[in-house]
Amino acid sequence: MGRLLLISGLVFLIWIAYRFLKNSWSARIREVEQHEQNHRSPANVQQIKACSYCKTHIPENEGIYKDGKFFCSYQHLDRYLEHEQK
Ligand SMILES: [Zn+2]
Repeated sequence: MGRLLLISGLVFLIWIAYRFLKNSWSARIREVEQHEQNHRSPANVQQIKACSYCKTHIPENEGIYKDGKFFCSYQHLDRYLEHEQK
């Protein structure tokens, strides 16, 4: 009878430990997910980039990308390319 009590007590302790670990793990995972979300959200916000020609800062979606470089207008893209060729 004493052994049965010991075993039930042990099982109870393991169950408590398991529940505690599970709770702390899910809390940790939530924390990480929240952190990742916070980290990710600035990427969704409009990025401001500098024109490679005139260095003016404008929103990314209003400019043009050419060969990995950013320009505020096609005019500056052309001028930059002309400048590069000389
Ligand atoms: Zn420009």
